[in-house]
Order: sequence, then C-alpha cells, then structure tokens
Amino acid sequence: MKKKVLIIGGGVAGLTAAITLRKNNHEVWILERNDRPLKKLLLTGNGKCNYWNQDQAITHYHSTTEELLPELITSTRQQAVLDFFDSIGIIPRIKNGYYYPFSNQASSMVESLYLSAIDQGVNMLTNLFVEDVIVQDNQFIVNPMKEKITGDSLIVATGSMAYPKTGSDGMGYKIAKSFGHHIVPVMPALVQLKMKESDLKDWKGIRCEARLESLVNGKVIQEESGELQLTEYGISGICTLNISSKLARSLATGDKVEVAIHFLPWLSTKQEVETYLENRACLFPNRTLEELLETILPYKLVHVLFNHYKVDFKKKWHTLTQQEKDTVSGFLFCHVVEIVGTNSFDQSQVCSGGVPLTEVHLETLESKYQKNLYFVGEVLDVNGDCGGYNLGFAFLSGILVGKKVGND
Ligand SMILES: Cc1cc2nc3c(=O)[nH]c(=O)nc-3n(C[C@H](O)[C@H](O)[C@H](O)COP(=O)(O)OP(=O)(O)OC[C@H]3O[C@@H](n4cnc5c(N)ncnc54)[C@H](O)[C@@H]3O)c2cc1C
Repeated sequence: MKKKVLIIGGGVAGLTAAITLRKNNHEVWILERNDRPLKKLLLTGNGKCNYWNQDQAITHYHSTTEELLPELITSTRQQAVLDFFDSIGIIPRIKNGYYYPFSNQASSMVESLYLSAIDQGVNMLTNLFVEDVIVQDNQFIVNPMKEKITGDSLIVATGSMAYPKTGSDGMGYKIAKSFGHHIVPVMPALVQLKMKESDLKDWKGIRCEARLESLVNGKVIQEESGELQLTEYGISGICTLNISSKLARSLATGDKVEVAIHFLPWLSTKQEVETYLENRACLFPNRTLEELLETILPYKLVHVLFNHYKVDFKKKWHTLTQQEKDTVSGFLFCHVVEIVGTNSFDQSQVCSGGVPLTEVHLETLESKYQKNLYFVGEVLDVNGDCGGYNLGFAFLSGILVGKKVGND
C-alpha cells in the first residue's frame, strides 16, 4: 500500500532510505535542517569519501550489543549495498580494498545521491528543524505547533552528535526518547586521544609507523597498526582513531587507560630491539647513535628520545652503558602514555552509543515501542572502524528500512 513517509535528516542514511522507498512508489518527504542535504558527506575521507570496504568482516562494526550485529549486518544486505551503488551510478576507485568515487572526490557521491533522489521524485524540505513529533490517529505529526507535517511512517535519520556543525547535534535521541526509547550514553568515537600533561609535548608534528596496544587497567584490550600522528595534546592518526571508541567508554567508567606505542612494530620484545640495534651497530661501526637511529626513524622522534632521556647521541652504540642501551631500546620497543581524555564531539568523526539495537526489530529497524517508527544510520548504537564502515552502515540500514517500510 502506498504510504506517506517522513524522513528526518538528509544525510546518507536518510537519502538512501528515500531513494529505496521511491522504488516502491511511496510518497517520501525528507525534512532537513540545513539549506542542503549531505553536508557531512562532503567532508568524509578528507574530501575523497571512503564509502565502503571490500573487507566486510563483522569485527569492523561495533555496538554495546555486539552480539546482535551478525543478525543486522548480513552478507545479503552487504550485497544490496553494492547493488545500490550501481543503481545510483557511482563508479568505484578501489585502493587496498577501500572504495572511493572514481573522481576521488566526495562531491561525486553527493551528486549521485542527490540527483538520484530528485530523479526518483523524493520531496525535500530544507531549512526545516524538527523539534517535536507526536502521534495522533496513527499519523505522525512533525512540529505540531508549527509546520504540522503529517505522515503514515517516520524514519529518524538524524545522525549522532559528531561534527555538530554539519547538523547532527543529537536531536534524534530526544525524538527517540519521546517515544519511550532509552539511549545508550553517546560518546565520541574515531577521535584523537589526549595524554597526561606531563608527557612529551615536543613530539608534536611527528608522523611514523607504529603498533599501538590499548590498555585498560593494565590489560591489553585492542591492537592496531598504521600511521601514528603525535600531537601537542596526545596521539592521532587512523590507528589511534580505531582504538578510541573502546577507550572513551573505559575513561567514562573511571578505568586507568594507557596506550603502549611500539615504534619498531616488527619487533616483539625489548631484547629483540636491543639485538637489532646491536646488529646495525656492527654493520655500521663508525656511526654515532644519532646517525644509527636517524636512518630508521623520523629525525624529530630520535631527538625527542635523546632530549627526554638525556642520552648522549654523539656516542657510538658500543660505548653506551647497559642502562643507556636499556633506555633507548625500551623507548623504541614500547613507550606507554597515560590517556586522560578524548577530543570533543566537534572533532570526532562518529559517536558510539545511541538508540539500542535491543529496542528495534532487527529485520526492519522498526521501533519496538511505536509502530511505523524507524531508525537508520548513526542515530543507532552502531559504529564502525575507519575505512568506510560508518558510511557503509548508513547505506546498509537506509536500504534495509527503505525496502521494509509499507510492506505490512
Ligand atoms: C570529518 C568526517 C570524516 C568522515 N569520513 C568518513 C569516511 O571516509 N568513511 C566513512 O565511512 N565514514 C566517515 N565519516 C562518518 C560518516 O560521515 C557518518 O557515519 C555518516 O555520515 C552518518 O550518516 P547519517 O545519515 O546517519 O548521519 P549524518 O550524515 O550526520 O546526517 C544526519 C542529517 O540529519 C540532519 N538533522 C539532524 N537533526 C535534525 C533535525 N532535528 N531536523 C532536521 N534535520 C536534522 C542533519 O542536518 C544531517 O544532514 C566521517 C565523518 C566526519 C565528521
């Protein structure tokens, strides 16, 4: 039966649901507070939009009810996302499994979604901020004291609280609560980590390859490798962002949070590092410690080590005391920083938390508390790793709801 469907939020999840719904001929209205849809999409992947990943292992997706994810993110639904990309005419450029638009510009994805929505006859009301929704006589009424827009079904696609300047400021949670939903506490995820004041600040600006271990109360809970960026306040880079979600939750519960940085990631003990340096010193006996290390690591990092630990870098390896050798190999093998916080929602790419998966039917994403009310995208308690998983979930959930609404 043809229905009038209202969608709050013109992000990826909202537009994907809208385009899919039009294929079943429903009347669709997107209500967007900005003067145009897809504002956040334009910023993704540093303007290149990493929208999907070939590696669709479920371990790249996270939720406080992680055990429910395999039921939600299925291979059939992942295939439906790839079919959807074809249907909106997006051509992928695939680099190491990461999908980008062929143009390497997020604007191609923005245009593909926007033009497809227009072609399909999706109605868009922009500059419309949804503050309130009520239900009367099985009809949803949006902003009952103002515009009074009515519909048979309502899809909440308002995003999270990440990057609020793009329009997602958490209003969706308020709407969900007004229908009796609980909200899993919302926290920044894919965000930079702040270290304790006393730690090294002069490493600001260094970029290097490293292996990170995140520790909660001394226990390793996650490991990531990749480019690490050292900043004035702490650490950043993709490997940092990927460990941030779990650490933010641990910080909130008062746990002790640390990150162990392994600057020579292919070596797995301090002894191996010392032996490695010993061997290099034999190979290049005339080199000073400074010259020995500068050929392996960024110049600035080597000098941070020397300044911080007061090691005489003009000495040769074989003339160092055992204590000095221990200091150098200990730092390079594993330098532990205490983490005291994360950057704010303003800098976080996504949020963890949101509408609990236990409060929606996983086969439709319909609310268990209110018939014909649905949730899609980041407003739900699902977040993904860096690498196209967050947009991936926005597409997947949008398609899922777009296919299910009105099929009763
Ligand atoms: C800088 C940055 C880079 C990123 N890069 C990547 C990447 O490369 N790959 C990846 O997978 N993910 C990336 N992400 C994450 C990804 O962009 C989000 O996960 C995704 O956009 C979520 O889609 P959504 O439709 O659920 O929400 P959003 O994109 O946030 O859309 C929500 C929409 O709802 C509107 N809205 C909210 N409240 C109201 C209201 N009350 N009334 C009316 N309208 C409302 C907002 O204005 C917004 O347009 C990045 C995020 C950021 C911030």
